[in-house]
Amino acid sequence: MLANEREFVTDLIVRDQYYPVPLPAVLGHEGSGIVESVGNGVSSVQPGDHVVLSFASCGACTSCRTGRPYACETFYE
Ligand SMILES: [Zn+2]
Repeated sequence: MLANEREFVTDLIVRDQYYPVPLPAVLGHEGSGIVESVGNGVSSVQPGDHVVLSFASCGACTSCRTGRPYACETFYE
């Protein structure tokens, strides 16, 4: 990891206490599960679907194009 990437790797800055979070803690940005129900107007998934959740990334910015979607320039948009 490059030193200037540390600011983008939130799990590591918490682990190393650059960002003070009481430890122990469960860290991570991803989740998975099985859809139990959906609301009206939801068409992308249906009950029983297996899903994986993660942060959004655009796939087009410099960070995404260089294999660092976790540092996506649109991360907070
Ligand atoms: Zn991006």
